Amino acid sequence: MTRGLAARKALAAEAFARLAAANPAPKSELEYRDPYTLLVAVALSAQATDAGVNKATRRLFAEAADPAAMVALGEERVRELVKTIGLYRNKAKNVVALSRILVERHGGEVPRDREALEALPGVGRKTANVVLNVAFGEPTIAVDTHVFRVANRLGIGPGRTPEEVERALLAVTPKEWLHGAHHWLILHGRHVCKARTPLCGACALADVCPWPGKPVDAAEPDRRKPAAPQRQPRPA
Ligand code: SF4
Repeated sequence: MTRGLAARKALAAEAFARLAAANPAPKSELEYRDPYTLLVAVALSAQATDAGVNKATRRLFAEAADPAAMVALGEERVRELVKTIGLYRNKAKNVVALSRILVERHGGEVPRDREALEALPGVGRKTANVVLNVAFGEPTIAVDTHVFRVANRLGIGPGRTPEEVERALLAVTPKEWLHGAHHWLILHGRHVCKARTPLCGACALADVCPWPGKPVDAAEPDRRKPAAPQRQPRPA
């Protein structure tokens, strides 16, 4: 059952306070140097691990680390350098195309503007949210598969689509935690609240988490039982 707004706000405040206490300065696990390399890294990251993207971008950014250099490098060479990443053909095409637009329409800079970002090839709402948050300090919440899962399990951001979850999270996240919120939720989802085997017995939120799939004694690690698989909404 979906909780009321006041209850979700209280739970969100408690959850973010605990996650922030454990990791006061959360950072992206993607390697980047500036807004442009962050944009490229995030654009390459769909259906790929951050470790895999970092391996590829180390090679790529050694040859081209700004939009003009990327255009000069060309799609064929970019494809060669990122071919270890899933969907690399399309991603290489998008990286060169978005770089060309940055050169031609934005003076070679990444725009601090959602509409302009989402107009770039291969850049959707999630990528724009990451760039606005990480590169420009905007209080956006990017909803990827980890944020989607954790927000729904915790009940602080219920929704059937990433957009619904984003709106729900923005409505309950205290202002002081807005900037770090997506980092804390992503890291919690990757390392603790995993998709198939959530580590509820080691979770700092176990005593406040209402997810029915967690073991009843999750707050007591010595006696914990494995979590039973539960049906849960998936991003549409
Ligand atoms: S208790 Fe389990 S389901 Fe709830 S947030 Fe923690 S790991 Fe996720």
